[in-house]
Amino acid sequence: MSFYKANIKYYKELSDTVNKLLSEACVLKAPVPIKQIAKMCGVNVMGYEFGEEISGVLIVEENKATIGFNTENSRVRQRFTIAHELGHFMQHVKSNNKDELFVDKDFIVKFRSDKTYSAKEVTQEREANAFAAALLMPRQFILDEMKEPKYKKLHETKLIEELAKVFEVSVPAMTYRLSDLNIFRY
Ligand SMILES: [Zn+2]
Repeated sequence: MSFYKANIKYYKELSDTVNKLLSEACVLKAPVPIKQIAKMCGVNVMGYEFGEEISGVLIVEENKATIGFNTENSRVRQRFTIAHELGHFMQHVKSNNKDELFVDKDFIVKFRSDKTYSAKEVTQEREANAFAAALLMPRQFILDEMKEPKYKKLHETKLIEELAKVFEVSVPAMTYRLSDLNIFRY
């Protein structure tokens, strides 16, 4: 069973949180301006040359939060990283007022085998990814976008590619999102 299907209540709350952020930022359609939303949440966003290993970090020190993203990654990966780190901030840091450091590596595809993750860490990574997907690809934005006539004749693969372009996310990210949302065209 997917994380999505096993956690309906969590996803309902996540969807409410995301909709509130989008409405506060006056964002009505894709692409979601992720840096602007992070700043609105009180988080600095900075680009760094991290090298190949690290995609992003979240540093919280003395109530100041900074997201660092890897400028050598692709633009869509940078956007997902910022959204993922913002997910850590909103879900795992904001309420507990203490210094925190999250360092993210290969978090999209799979967890790296050179480190053992605790159950709490695994849940936090899943939640950060879920937050990123919900914020960058809001359900209603996808439904609205798919009403456009230009999508009517597209084969599914091409449709997902086009949606990924509009939402400025990767094709795998859009594929997972559509599957989790149970959005089908027929
Ligand atoms: Zn993470």
